[in-house]
Amino acid sequence: MIEVQQLTKKYQQTVAVSNVSFTVHAGQTLVLLGTSGSGKTTTLRMINRLIEPTSGSIFINGKNILSQPPEILRRSIGYVLQGYGLFPHYTVAENIAIVPRLLKWNKGRIEQRTDELLHKLQLSPAKYRHVYPSQLSGGQMQRVGLARALAANPPILLMDEPFGALDPLTRTAVRKELKELDELKKKTIILVTHDVQEAFELGNIIGLMDKGCIQQLATPTELLFQPANDFVKQFLQQQLFQLEWQSLRLIDIWNDLPVAENDAAITLTSQQTLWNALAELTNSTLPVVAFDKATATKKVFNFSHLTTAIQRQKQPA
Ligand code: ADP
Ligand code: MG
Repeated sequence: MIEVQQLTKKYQQTVAVSNVSFTVHAGQTLVLLGTSGSGKTTTLRMINRLIEPTSGSIFINGKNILSQPPEILRRSIGYVLQGYGLFPHYTVAENIAIVPRLLKWNKGRIEQRTDELLHKLQLSPAKYRHVYPSQLSGGQMQRVGLARALAANPPILLMDEPFGALDPLTRTAVRKELKELDELKKKTIILVTHDVQEAFELGNIIGLMDKGCIQQLATPTELLFQPANDFVKQFLQQQLFQLEWQSLRLIDIWNDLPVAENDAAITLTSQQTLWNALAELTNSTLPVVAFDKATATKKVFNFSHLTTAIQRQKQPA
């Protein structure tokens, strides 16, 4: 668990981070979302003591991070830097081995872990182990950066714009891989991004930042349907329609949907979003049928089932 209390960082004229507080529980992902200059990187760097706060405090599992030397603290924290941050004169394997070496793992163990991670991140170890970063594509460098952060299996992962340097297609692909990576499922993660879609896809909680302050700290659905102020509303405005339809899954409205005929052809699962369902309806002349594995039930729906569900979300509770 990470607890940040009234964290502030001032540089002469600039207040980079102003009175920021949040808690991230074990296994959760907090996304710090905001435009450039809103204080995201500074917040992240204070957590692994690359920057010391002007005031405020940070606790990890109840322990003040100032109570141990930064080098020791950083062994339990994987950090994925903004940009790729790989050492150009180190091979892929050497980049990944940095922390295990510091921890004095033996050679065999380091090699085994490196190959395991490369494999998990869909880079053939035989092909990429001895290659230099300049020989890799952006998506591949990003995977190596992640492998390096994960090498010693730290319980905490801090990621600064991990997909920021990737083209949109690669970005979506790497993001999907990240979501499905078993190693990440138990980790406590703070991820920094300026991308609203990314924040909604990856965050259990989102801290929307502006001018060093957190404007709202809430779940994606709360941010959408109960925005704290005009800034939050405006920040989400452009993508509001898509976000609303992505925020609900068919399973969330399962009880409101009629049961489908036994022989109806299934095209969706209950875990897909209303956005997926909308796309399916748009491409179909018939009502669409979805299947829920857990209850082994089939439901059928049309546009009006979906719009009714969205409208209900927007009504004040
Ligand atoms: P973000 O990561 O959200 O883009 P940063 O945390 O990097 O934002 O920066 C927040 C603010 O603090 C910006 O206005 C930036 O110019 C300022 N800042 C960051 N680092 C320094 C520094 N070392 N000296 C002076 N100002 C800084
Ligand atoms: Mg930044």
